[in-house]
Amino acid sequence: MNKLDEFAAGKLAALEARTLRRRIAETARLDGVWVERDGKRLLSFSCNDYLNLSQHLALRDAAIAAIEKYGVGAGASRLVTGNHPLYAELETKLAAMKGTEAACVFGSGYLANIGIIPALVGEGDLVLLDELAHSCIWAGARMSRATIVSFRHNDAAHAGDLLAQHRAQHAHVLIATETVFSMDGDRAPLIELSALAARFDAWLMTDDAHGLGVVAPSDAEVSLQMGTLSKAIGSYGGYLCASLPVIELIRNRARSFVYSTGLPPASVAASIAALDLIAREPTYAALPLAKARQFTRLTGLAEAQSPIVPLVIGDARAAVDASALLEREGFLVTAIRPPTVPEGTARLRLTFSAGHPDAEIERLAATIKQHILP
Ligand SMILES: *Cc1c(COP(=O)(O)O)cnc(C)c1O
Repeated sequence: MNKLDEFAAGKLAALEARTLRRRIAETARLDGVWVERDGKRLLSFSCNDYLNLSQHLALRDAAIAAIEKYGVGAGASRLVTGNHPLYAELETKLAAMKGTEAACVFGSGYLANIGIIPALVGEGDLVLLDELAHSCIWAGARMSRATIVSFRHNDAAHAGDLLAQHRAQHAHVLIATETVFSMDGDRAPLIELSALAARFDAWLMTDDAHGLGVVAPSDAEVSLQMGTLSKAIGSYGGYLCASLPVIELIRNRARSFVYSTGLPPASVAASIAALDLIAREPTYAALPLAKARQFTRLTGLAEAQSPIVPLVIGDARAAVDASALLEREGFLVTAIRPPTVPEGTARLRLTFSAGHPDAEIERLAATIKQHILP
């Protein structure tokens, strides 16, 4: 082995020793809820495709029509020649849905966060983050070179104390959190955070990756509403909804927007079809949360606040074992380990979707009660 290979192998062995090495398992998603892995058919509780729209005929048809009209690739950054006509339609719909003047679509949610934050704050500024904020919010904050301070998870009082302590030393302050936490399924105290933003002259940014389409939006005043088109929307891409001047600034200054190729037209067309479908079918869009609540009722867990239900196990090995047990019962529930979640909080993370049969949720709940819950 050469030095580089030795280095890589050593790093992997260290991960293996802590049950933190991950392997990508080939998984064929059959219809949005059923998947095939190692020749076995499993019911997936590990997809973020909450409305199973990734397989929906309306989205597939829209994507195919876009390919036929515009081809498969965008060709360049949107600022050069990659801004095919479907973008305006998608951005108008997103802005209308979020009640903002404008919207800007990015290549992905990750690209959105690492573009937006450094475009708005920099050296001499402060970014105040929920400690459990998604990795790409942290990455964007680090890339901005602003000072980063984190507040205890969903603790607005702590955020207020930190603002009182740090606000005066910084020119601009960005507060960033998730509307629905990706690994915990709980919801941020947006009314309180928005009041803090007003009181301390700070800007509030929310990441609605797991809310859009499946959780009723909060009434809080939020000037920077970011999210993804890759989860309940069933397609791919990220976005920011905000005022026109902010969106124009982002289009000029967010490096992951300026220097990255536009989305394939098919993805944009599918997102448009998904937003239309969600607007037309609110009863359908309410199903994932209702099913998560059916599960928490059956298991006696705290009532689900979103379609995401965590079962925190603690030890990484034990979480992997619990996942294997469920797989033997026909359920795909991937173990989530550090660094995706904090050390000592490895867990099973269940995501409920519109297509999960009620009888299977009952069987899953019974299995978990019998074998996994204390
Ligand atoms: C998934 C996720 C992202 C990233 O979105 P992609 O479109 O998958 O890149 C960003 N923020 C949160 C909270 C997420 O859960």
